[in-house]
Amino acid sequence: MGLYIDIHTHSPSADYPTPASAGIHPWHAASGLIDEAAMHAAALIGEIGLDYACNVDREVQEHLFREQLSIAQRLRKPVVVHCVRAFEDVMKIVADYHLKAVIFHGFIGSKEQAAEAVKRGYFLSFGEGVKRSPKTAVALQNTPLENLFLETDENTLSIEEIYSIAAEIRGEDTETIINAITNNPNRYQHSTENIRFFATELSQKYALYP
Ligand SMILES: [Zn+2]
Repeated sequence: MGLYIDIHTHSPSADYPTPASAGIHPWHAASGLIDEAAMHAAALIGEIGLDYACNVDREVQEHLFREQLSIAQRLRKPVVVHCVRAFEDVMKIVADYHLKAVIFHGFIGSKEQAAEAVKRGYFLSFGEGVKRSPKTAVALQNTPLENLFLETDENTLSIEEIYSIAAEIRGEDTETIINAITNNPNRYQHSTENIRFFATELSQKYALYP
């Protein structure tokens, strides 16, 4: 049986498996202090990334992004990337690190960009954006199930609604999507040590992973 996994880093829900994350958002790049202990305790490092629509200095953002990517690499934890109008730069920077997994959260973009990320084995997490951005809906249609996550983020729709919208756009049934996404965290767990970062949390609460 699968569950509605929600890549929701802002306010984890008590009702759905929402992996805990730690990291400094690019909006706070100028003032944020890295808390490595929190990152060590978290399942995912995020949201980290670049946001060219906000007025934080780009060099400051990049410096912090790189610093947190280094930590994620050292801790061998997946990163949840916040990327707004910065796709090319994010792709260039992320390529400099050996990361357990890269999850683009709240993905908004073209199917070409999605394909570029998928080619590198990254994950794309889609949310309400697929409703207002037609090109993003096309990107969702073209993203393999093995690279897919879904999320509520700060939006009004429930995670069930997001799954059912995604199912409709993709022409699949919700159960297929639930099952694929439930399995996706396993895809980037290659050693027993690393099984802990995402799966422990889910298993404690939902007896999902033995
Ligand atoms: Zn974000």
